[in-house]
Amino acid sequence: MKKEFAVIGLGRFGGSICRALSEEGMEVLAIDIDEDKVNEFANIASHAVVADTTDEAVLKSLGIRNFDHVIVAIGDNIQASILTTLMLKELGVKHITVKAQNDYHEKVLSKIGADYIVHPERDMGKRIAHHIISNNVLDYLELSDEHSIVEIAANGNIAGHSIMELDIRAKYGINIVAIKRNKEIIVSPQANEVIQSGDILIVIGADTDINRFEKKAL
Ligand code: ADP
Repeated sequence: MKKEFAVIGLGRFGGSICRALSEEGMEVLAIDIDEDKVNEFANIASHAVVADTTDEAVLKSLGIRNFDHVIVAIGDNIQASILTTLMLKELGVKHITVKAQNDYHEKVLSKIGADYIVHPERDMGKRIAHHIISNNVLDYLELSDEHSIVEIAANGNIAGHSIMELDIRAKYGINIVAIKRNKEIIVSPQANEVIQSGDILIVIGADTDINRFEKKAL
């Protein structure tokens, strides 16, 4: 059975989620209080409706609890975002993703039981900062305050050496979980795997150890 999604708030973030889901062939109900926004998505989403989602009766009439996943992408109106999330939760929606505007908003959302809370501006800002600081860092995923998974471009300093020779785990306390080589991906590479120039290493570890590796080994 095809999964059904509802996106509430069709600003830059919600709009982009709505487009991407629709391009993937998903059933998407696009919702916004602003009629112009809804018209913009009428030909993109499966259905598009004008609705104020802080009104419980409206949410019920949309049959919102039957959707597999509801994304709340209401931007600046934090009160509307919280109220909407609370009601989705009360109506029994199984998966709720909410965009948080700030840390306080995030705290409230997690208290009322939002399943996934995203902070796109903050996270993208951090990613870009990492990339600016080190050209070798292509992407990064924060696992906790202190641990990350990072994509690092291998350079001439390590190319031509095997993982064993580089002794990365013992020296830096980090692990190479995969190597991206052209279109291929080598998962859990063996110690005798030789790093090639152009390889992208996917490493996991403590941020301080990853930084040390970037500074000393690359
Ligand atoms: P972004 O930063 O992602 O561009 P915006 O704040 O521009 O976010 O967009 C949020 C969207 O949410 C707007 O299109 C706005 O009309 C919509 N919105 C705000 N309040 C409600 C509400 N109560 N019900 C439905 N949609 C709402």
